[in-house]
Amino acid sequence: MKIIVTGGAGFIGSAVARHIINNTKDHILILDSLSYAGNLESLQSIAGNERYQFAQVDICNRQALDRIFAEFTPDAVMHLAAESHVDRSIDGPAAFIETNIVGTYTLLEAARQYWQGLGEAAKKAFRFHHISTDEVYGDLHGTNDLFTETTPYAPSSPYSASKASSDHLVRAWLRTYGLPTIVTNCSNNYGPYHFPEKLIPLTILNALEGKALPVYGNGAQVRDWLYVEDHARALYQVVCEGEVGETYNIGGHNERKNIEVVQAICRLLDELVPNKPANLAKYEELIAFVTDRPGHDRRYAIDASKIERELGWQPQETFESGIRKTVEWYLANKAWWSRVKDGSYAGERLGLTR
Ligand code: NAD
Repeated sequence: MKIIVTGGAGFIGSAVARHIINNTKDHILILDSLSYAGNLESLQSIAGNERYQFAQVDICNRQALDRIFAEFTPDAVMHLAAESHVDRSIDGPAAFIETNIVGTYTLLEAARQYWQGLGEAAKKAFRFHHISTDEVYGDLHGTNDLFTETTPYAPSSPYSASKASSDHLVRAWLRTYGLPTIVTNCSNNYGPYHFPEKLIPLTILNALEGKALPVYGNGAQVRDWLYVEDHARALYQVVCEGEVGETYNIGGHNERKNIEVVQAICRLLDELVPNKPANLAKYEELIAFVTDRPGHDRRYAIDASKIERELGWQPQETFESGIRKTVEWYLANKAWWSRVKDGSYAGERLGLTR
């Protein structure tokens, strides 16, 4: 297969790209605008492979998309490109509307035009796989409820509202034009190559520097955590074996309160780091509760039984094994994250000095 992976320089997209190159014979073309979240250094281990190509393209640029579709002639698109950080969507929603809604629309149109020009067999085999989030469902108030594929949409933040819009567009392009689409909605991911603005890498890296570990509100918000490589495997299985028109929820059966996640990281660092910052007996001493995020969802939890039943997918990592691997990865890969933190990963191309 030849697969376009949009957003392939991001956290999950790069895991998908590494999974495909390392475990299949497929060819991929990564299509990514290299926003602040895109990092070619996350793709270094596969960049020399002859089945790998990269194009720096914005998904809002229709002309560039048309050229890529015509030249690469994909069998499938895995669409991960997005603005993805909830806090940024609260501070500046415009980029979320542009990329997540207008960008998805532009990509759908480019895919549709290309798909309509294919022969009958190729048309039938083509897949447009849209990767989305469980945040489109809003939040759960009962402790035993779970999001299923039929839970009504009730997004809370500009991020989740923009993702919900894109999900609707994708389903409409199947219903109206027949474009063979599939949607997946996944819970919170964590693992290697995660941008350090997100809870888990932020906690690890702040702790290593002896900085405060910010936890919103009282830390009682519950998230269901999935190790990113389990998600990448699920996505590849869906694009190969999923039914057109179906939605698959993907989750890890790993509900944890945010405060429990931060405490688990602190305990691992106590065990794995021989030299703590000065005056610190335990990393937990750095935990600092901060004013809650506006509109903060209380609990997300996903029912992933459909993908398990229909495609036989199962997560391989528990939260305990995945968080240990993640902490160990950050301890072993300072070269990757220090270039993200000092801005030099992007500095050459964007002039960033964050
Ligand atoms: P990320 O922010 O790490 O990566 C997004 C990538 O998209 C970056 O490489 C960025 O450069 C690229 N991009 C942004 N705007 C673009 C544009 N206009 N044109 C082309 N490329 C652009 O995000 P992620 O965490 O890897 O998430 C990937 C997808 O998975 C997103 O669609 C997100 O909504 C979804 N998702 C994420 C999670 C999670 O926990 N991270 C959970 C469920 C679903």
